[in-house]
Amino acid sequence: MFLWHLMTGSLTVHLNQLHNKERQRALTNKALVKSITHAGTHVAYYRDSFKKAGFNPADFKGPDDLKKIPFLTKDDVRNAFPHSIVADNTDIKACHYSATTGSTGRSLPFIYSPKTFAFYLATNLRVYSMIGYKPWYRCSYIKYTAMDPVNIGPFFTFDHIPSVMTVDKQIKMLRANKPDFIDGYASIIYEIARKVTKDDLKLIRPKMILVNSEMSSQHQRAYISDVFGCPVFDEYSTEETWMVASQCKHHNYHLFTDNVFVEFLDKEGREVQPGEPGEMVLTTLKSPAMPFIRYRIGDMGRLSTRTCDCGSPFPILEAFDGRADDSFILPDGTYVSSLKILNTFTMFIKKYLHLMEEFKVIQKTKDHVEIDLVQGKAYKPEQFQELIDALTHLLDNQVKITVNMVPGIDLKGNIKRKAIESRVN
Ligand SMILES: [Zn+2]
Repeated sequence: MFLWHLMTGSLTVHLNQLHNKERQRALTNKALVKSITHAGTHVAYYRDSFKKAGFNPADFKGPDDLKKIPFLTKDDVRNAFPHSIVADNTDIKACHYSATTGSTGRSLPFIYSPKTFAFYLATNLRVYSMIGYKPWYRCSYIKYTAMDPVNIGPFFTFDHIPSVMTVDKQIKMLRANKPDFIDGYASIIYEIARKVTKDDLKLIRPKMILVNSEMSSQHQRAYISDVFGCPVFDEYSTEETWMVASQCKHHNYHLFTDNVFVEFLDKEGREVQPGEPGEMVLTTLKSPAMPFIRYRIGDMGRLSTRTCDCGSPFPILEAFDGRADDSFILPDGTYVSSLKILNTFTMFIKKYLHLMEEFKVIQKTKDHVEIDLVQGKAYKPEQFQELIDALTHLLDNQVKITVNMVPGIDLKGNIKRKAIESRVN
């Protein structure tokens, strides 16, 4: 059944690229109406919040009506999960459970149905085909979890390289895998690019690289492209809503409006003009089991009115503003991406659900890291020690780690503030 969903999903997302802009916009608006109506009918959280706001989902006609609906924050999701934010017609046992820390260090659990998951994977495949991937390419996938393999004979080969490994081990694995295509976190591939030798590059000769899941700078991507001698494409997604945008062959970001509806808003919640930076507020169109309606992810972006030569009907996202990352610097001068630290926490949040509620990691000096921890309801010291051990290993045993148990972490008024911070630079 899953394979069936994956096949129909893949067909749908690829066909969607053939529509003209007007047709795609009409389909998006139709999906938006469906998503809002469904949420207001089947999801207790939205039933209540719509009612409180005096909004009747039956009156929803299109994007202009979105402003009648309250925003959804990560805290709202955390408080409502799963009892009131999962649709009442969902077989929750069949769903795919996941959790994220984003970059804010607060764990956020969520689910999606197998059909939604298949659609999400199909959107990944579409990104691949947009940038010229071929099914026979050997891929090295640098993430904290492995990609569920879709292996069909010699096709769709994905070698997993754990993102939390040290850079030397990652390079060793890349030398062994000899990938045609590398898909992974920008900061980690950047770190690899800084470390590879001429000798490594005789074996590691990718035809293209896709970076994702965090903001990367044009400088980072140009550097990676220069080192590996191949094009580097950037993709933008969140774990909760999945694919939001990706660069095409022409390096323009296209907003995937068949998966999410995106609003660009100013501080007062008004829509900004194309070209103006705005807070991106997302509404999922394909996740009825747990819809995210007007979800504030805390990222900023700019919409464009340009069209792209690739012919995609999806609007162009001009630029992102946000999601910057700090790195840690060890006593011996080695640089460790903050994402590796974040991934280590995410790994344990997924391994031990409710181990921790929230955290903040601060590198105070080169040899001292402090963690502020808000315990989860199933906190166990020995499980947390496992995380500390993994972190100590990642920081190459060069750093002393101290832990402060705290009742909460001050947000200092930001909806998005960094969970990983270095005060060494
Ligand atoms: Zn394009």
